[in-house]
Amino acid sequence: MTTPEFSVVIPVYNEEENLPELIDRCFTVCRGSGRDFEIIFVDDGSRDASRAMLLAAADRHAEIITIILNRNYGQHAAVFAGLERSKGEIVITLDADLQNPPEEIPNLLRAMDEGVDVVGTARENRQDSFFRRIASSVVNRMVRQATGVMMHDYGCMLRAYRRPIVQAMLQCSERSTFIPILANSFAGSTAEIPVRHARREKGQSKYSLLKLISLQYDLLTSMSTFPLRLLSFFGAVISLCGIAFGVLLILLRIFYGDSWAAEGVFTLFALLFVFIGAQFIGLGLLGEYIGRIYHDVRSRPRYFIHEIRGAEDATPQPQ
Ligand code: UDP
Ligand code: MG
Repeated sequence: MTTPEFSVVIPVYNEEENLPELIDRCFTVCRGSGRDFEIIFVDDGSRDASRAMLLAAADRHAEIITIILNRNYGQHAAVFAGLERSKGEIVITLDADLQNPPEEIPNLLRAMDEGVDVVGTARENRQDSFFRRIASSVVNRMVRQATGVMMHDYGCMLRAYRRPIVQAMLQCSERSTFIPILANSFAGSTAEIPVRHARREKGQSKYSLLKLISLQYDLLTSMSTFPLRLLSFFGAVISLCGIAFGVLLILLRIFYGDSWAAEGVFTLFALLFVFIGAQFIGLGLLGEYIGRIYHDVRSRPRYFIHEIRGAEDATPQPQ
């Protein structure tokens, strides 16, 4: 097979209900683009029929490559496994749950033809829960501030990257990464297009609240040290307020006498708790960084491949 013009990388974790339609729609769309392509499915340790279905798909179509990871490593690690084996000049990532319609792939390719390094997408009328939408709008705003790249929607994984950007990302050895942000930190030029977003029709979101929180921390800490700086800024503001308040309390005590001050004891307690809370948040965030440094120092492989089907070289090589 010649080098494909574009590769589609799809992480899959227990998506048996969505796979038949996904494979079908992706294949039709890629065929219809008239360019050489490959579709790389990465099975992230699924415990349902996904694995067998993906292996069968790789046997059926020459353009489909299936990578089986030996256990669940998380969406971004799985995408990395796919990126590592992708050959296309353009690489498109996509979720397996059909929330991002594969029919948008040609639009992404067209946007890439303009010559930009990364094409991001903004989900129109996003079909997720209210809580998820609020959380992600806060996070998106922070990421915009921190990276200076004016993209509106970092959470949407339907994106396209040019080969040099993919290569740059593959050289990054840190373990907890958030791919859209990592890519943007290398991109010289970016574009953003609106895409449709569908409700998850089948299966459940693979992100529990805990996993979601962990992902948010990955995202936060992958923006270099900006959050740490933010922390010291907040710390400074809080201590300044504390000092000002202390002065105010002393003044009020002078003017209104001792009895007034005693009644203020509980207010002080309340304030104290606020500050203690702020410190714990700060410590927690520091802990998150240290935890990640610890992971990186150990530099364990991001994932282990159990099997590759459909690629020319089928030898698993840990990375
Ligand atoms: N996914 C994965 N490994 C995981 C969790 C998710 O490969 O540990 C895949 C999942 O199969 C899907 C994509 O990542 O293709 C996004 O997951 P999901 O749709 O559950 O996330 P949400 O849309 O709720 O953010
Ligand atoms: Mg989804």
